[in-house]
Amino acid sequence: MPRFIPEPYRIKMVEPIKMTTRKEREDYLKEAEYNMFRLRGEDVYVDTLTDSGTNAMSDAQWSAMMIGDEAYAGGKSYYKLLDACRDIFGYEFTQPVHQGRAAEKVLMPIFLHKGNYAIANLFFDTTRAHVEIAGARCLEACNPEAQDSQLRAPFKGNMDIAQLERHILDRGAENIGMVVMTITNNSAGGQPVSLQNMRETAAICKKFKIHLNIDAARFAENAMFVKQREPACKDMSVKEITRAFFALADTYTMSAKKDTIVNMGGLLGVKDGKAPYILKIKANCISYEGFYTYGGLTGRDLEALRVGLYEGLDENWLRYRLGTMDYMGTRLDEMGIPYQSPAGGHGIFLDAARFYPHIPYYEFPGQVLAVELYKECGLRTCDIGSFMMGNDPDTGEQIKSLNEFTRLAIARRVYTQSHYDMVLDGIKAVWDNRNNIKHGYRITWEPPILRHFQASLAPVDA
Ligand SMILES: *Cc1c(COP(=O)(O)O)cnc(C)c1O
Repeated sequence: MPRFIPEPYRIKMVEPIKMTTRKEREDYLKEAEYNMFRLRGEDVYVDTLTDSGTNAMSDAQWSAMMIGDEAYAGGKSYYKLLDACRDIFGYEFTQPVHQGRAAEKVLMPIFLHKGNYAIANLFFDTTRAHVEIAGARCLEACNPEAQDSQLRAPFKGNMDIAQLERHILDRGAENIGMVVMTITNNSAGGQPVSLQNMRETAAICKKFKIHLNIDAARFAENAMFVKQREPACKDMSVKEITRAFFALADTYTMSAKKDTIVNMGGLLGVKDGKAPYILKIKANCISYEGFYTYGGLTGRDLEALRVGLYEGLDENWLRYRLGTMDYMGTRLDEMGIPYQSPAGGHGIFLDAARFYPHIPYYEFPGQVLAVELYKECGLRTCDIGSFMMGNDPDTGEQIKSLNEFTRLAIARRVYTQSHYDMVLDGIKAVWDNRNNIKHGYRITWEPPILRHFQASLAPVDA
């Protein structure tokens, strides 16, 4: 049995979990029309739907909330947050927002419009949506290694530099509004990006004069992977690696609900405090989010976020965090169960296409596996595959995802090793039963954008 790195924290407050039967779970699924987002949280035993905002805050964060400054404009908590972001990222301007997609909504329309493109090492679902809402289109340049879940490589999240350059030459540099580097690469399975790859991406952006934005939700997990896997960085601190990454970009958008270990919050950073578009950022923020010194958050939220930025960079915490994923990955290896390997930073991405090779992408293997796992052990996961990808905005046709994953995203500081062991037993039972599952699901209703959050599904009958 692989070693489990012990938790670098202890429990001060608990929340009881309801126990359910298989029959009850089958009924809940039917009621939710097989959409995991439409299940009630209380009907879930271990919830790995997302690691976004599901984190447990520390005593230091809770106590910092008591000194939140609730001034409408120019509150102390805002200036303390600005200082923390200067210290950690080296960026002169920081716009707080209520979550990551708000940063995207504020920033994207400044650089993107009908007729131009954004290129990423892979877009997260809301990022893709905001590129398209701005009128632009998405192009992807992901390391081809990410497509083979069984291939072990240290930086499967990297930008494919040759593909990036081909996209730029094909469409014309003047038609590329922005390049987005997602760290870690969520859609590729929480896989890291190397500092070397970031340097090469930045050099291309500089050569063609294209704006470079970091989608930074999991910047700390990425930095820890770099420390562990990139020999040139092994003696750097996680904070130094973070600085080096951010120095190479122009802006970042961040969901603070991930590595910053809060329940709500986001950031938009600009390296150059004199950049003319800062005025537009502030104006968009005032229209959509609130005045620019609070950006849709309360003063106490800003305090918890500032403390969380530092706690998220703690190397003992990150060693445990990545150690948990490694423990689960190693146990899955022992059982011969396929997942995006090596394990990513924020969870396990089971390779549903290998569970159910006979189920086509348009019957959503990742969704099938999510349903089976919930029935088996009350574990909530979600599809990161064709169901999430949705339809092509121009042709309306179902997009075929590069991978069909079912994601277990692990909330920070919430569950213990015995929860993970129960989850692993559940996965094993579903794996052993895989050949008895003959068909997938079809969509009976869907909204036009980000459909996976709301769509209704029904089993495809024989
Ligand atoms: C979560 C996430 C977002 C969006 O952030 P929200 O806080 O959910 O709005 C954007 N990009 C990545 C990579 C994410 O993981």
